Formats: sequence, structure tokens, C-alpha cells
Amino acid sequence: MSTPLVFKFGGASVKDADSVRNVARIIGLFTQRPMVVVVSAMGKTTNAFEEIVEHWSRNELGLARKKIDAIRAFHFEIIEALFEAPAAIKSNVEELLNQVSAGIDRIDQSYGEAYDFIVHHGELISTKIIAEYVGKSTPTVWQDTRLLVRTDNQFRRATVRWEETTHAIQKRIDLDKVNIVQGFIGATASGIPTTLGREGSDYTGAVFAFCLGADSLTIWKDVPGMLNGDPKTFQNTTKIDRLPFNEAIELAFYGASIIHPKTIQPLKKKGIPLHIKSFVDPTAQGTTIGGVDRATPEVPNFILKKNQALLQLKTTDLAFIAEHHLSSIYQLFADQGVVVNLMRNTATKALFCINHDPIIVPKVMGELTGLFDLELVTDVELLTIRHYRKEDEERETKGRAILLEQRTPDVVQFVFKTR
Ligand code: ASP
Ligand code: MG
Repeated sequence: MSTPLVFKFGGASVKDADSVRNVARIIGLFTQRPMVVVVSAMGKTTNAFEEIVEHWSRNELGLARKKIDAIRAFHFEIIEALFEAPAAIKSNVEELLNQVSAGIDRIDQSYGEAYDFIVHHGELISTKIIAEYVGKSTPTVWQDTRLLVRTDNQFRRATVRWEETTHAIQKRIDLDKVNIVQGFIGATASGIPTTLGREGSDYTGAVFAFCLGADSLTIWKDVPGMLNGDPKTFQNTTKIDRLPFNEAIELAFYGASIIHPKTIQPLKKKGIPLHIKSFVDPTAQGTTIGGVDRATPEVPNFILKKNQALLQLKTTDLAFIAEHHLSSIYQLFADQGVVVNLMRNTATKALFCINHDPIIVPKVMGELTGLFDLELVTDVELLTIRHYRKEDEERETKGRAILLEQRTPDVVQFVFKTR
């Protein structure tokens, strides 16, 4: 077999009929086979399905059905613009939405299992439409990722079982065709659908690339490549042409949202380069991660994590914060799924900059009440500068009240009140 090529298209690249045409055009630029094309749900469909889950969990089934109607209308409009004879593909989508309807009538599932069942339909629908459309111009096969990406049953953040997944992917991928597969989803050994965590389709791309020993993984984006900061937040950003794997792992860890944090590891293991390219300008160079020791150009990187909270725990009797305190706090965090982005302790206080999850944080606060004196500062953000220079730091912190600061020779981080 010639070496496979893996592409990934996110929600923004399949948000309407024109963007689907563009995806087909980009696929048409490449003749190498097998090609695996990982696709996310269209536009903001995953958010819409999450709202259905919320309605389901509050037993607001009428509202849930209204939302299903809106999802149907959104996809039907795209289908009608793409196909001259849309009836068959519309009925495919209808069938999938009927499954969701039937699903919300079932009440015997845990929240996580219901979430994955409902939400994973976004990718099933988008790939049905895209496979049908791409199939008009090139031999294409729709593949069911639930038969390919095998996971454990940690719903909403399932872990890939590599051996079974490799086996299934190698067995089922059609070597002569474009294989359209769903990102973000998988299934347990008994076939129950799971998801890999929000924005998980990049990671799915890496899973396929790894299991197939692909030439490369290309993630097609609405930006020209990886910049050294989010241009919506930072001024004068620079495109990075090449970046070592390790550097990309670090940036993803600190929250560079351009790549899902788990994406790089599997690629690095097999030395498979990751290209980030523009779906608006597909022949432009983009960014390549891997295969180099140093970045070009070597510039500082800026990462802002919003929606943070600063949780301060003080011992009630002014005893020193000791290892046993920290270990019980972290145990609780791990059990409840609290994401700690920065930690610092002083003699009697432990400070945690955490993701301000509206459900998890109050729960954890409840569990810690009585054990510590608690203070929660909300409306907080975390700025990380990697390879910082004095002038960057001064510019970015000017006029801001710093709640917490931490530095190593490579990285400086600031917790601020949100402006
Ligand atoms: N559709 C999923 C999400 O929006 C997965 C992805 O886009 O990567 O989170
Ligand atoms: Mg998405």
C-alpha cells in the first residue's frame, strides 16, 4: 500500500454548503490513496446537541425536540443547496435524528452515556452529507468510526484502546478510496458510543495517522497556520513555519487552542509530521510540526486561558500546608475532574488557578468546606508567555492587577482579573 494521507476538517470548515464544496475541492487536489478524511460536526452542531442533553437532563423533552427540529432545518438547508436530488440523503439524516428522539425518551442512562449518545450524532450527520457530496467527484466510502476507534467506557472523555483500534483501522480502511470518518467519537467493545472530549477531532486525526503509519496529518483551519498567539487576543502575531513536537506539546499544554493537547503525542511517537494549513488558501505553506529541533522563526508564544477561577484554601488552624493536605486536595480534584492550570502554595495557603466549570467548582467547594477556609476569586484569566522577553511581559501586564505570578527560565504565567 502506498503511504496513507490523513486530513482533518473541523466544524468551521463544514459550516455551510459553500464550505462543503471547498472541502471537496481540497480533497480533489490530492490523488494519494488511501486518504482518510476526519470530519467534525457542522458549524456549531455539537453545542446544539449539548443543549439537547441539558434539556434531557432537566426533563424538558419538548424543548429538546424543538432543538432537534432546528438541527434538522440547519442540515436540510445545506443538503438542498448541495444536491439536485436530496431526498435520499435527507432521509439518512432524518433517520439519525429519529435515533436521537428515541434516545431522549430513554431515561435509564447515566448523564455521560446519554451525552455521548446524543452528541455523537453531529459527526454521523456531517459525514453522511460530506461522503455523499465528495463521492460525486471521487471514489469515496463512508466509514463508521464506532467500528474503528475502540475506547473504554469513560463517557465524555473516553480513552482509546490502541491495539484494538489499530487492528480495526488497518482491517477496514479502503486502500483505494477516500475514507470519510467521524472525528471525536468512538465506541466501547460492546458498541456503546463514546466521545473523546470536546474538540477531540484533531486527536481522532492523530489516532488514524498513528494506526496507519501515515505520511502526515493535515489539519485544515481558517487561519494560515499556527501563530504565536491568538490574533483575536494579541496584536502583531507571527506565523510559525516549523515547530518541534516538544514545543507543540508544551504550547498545547498551556492552552494554545489551535491543537487539541492529546494530538501531538501519537504523531511524535511515529515521527509523523502535522501540517496545519488554511482551507481558504490550501496551497499556502502553513505550519509543520515535527522533524525539526528548533522553531522557525523563534518567537515568544502567548496563550490566554479565559474563564478561570482562583481557588484559595487556607488551613483553618493556621497549620502549615503539608503534603497530606495537598494529596487529599488533588485526590478530590482528580475524582471530580477539576482542571488545575497553575498551583502555588505558601505557608498556610494553597492557591489553584482552575477552569471555572459551573457544575464542578461549586461541588468541590462544598466538599472542601469545613476542612479549609475557602476563597474563590472568579472572572479570572491566566496568561502564559513562553520564551518571554522583558518587553513582552511589560506590554502584556501593563495596568493589570496581578493576582498570582509564577516563572521558570522558559515560561512566565500571570493570573489576572478579567478586564
Ligand atoms: N464536534 C466536536 C466539538 O465541537 C469535536 C470537534 O469539533 O473536534 O467539540
Ligand atoms: Mg466541532
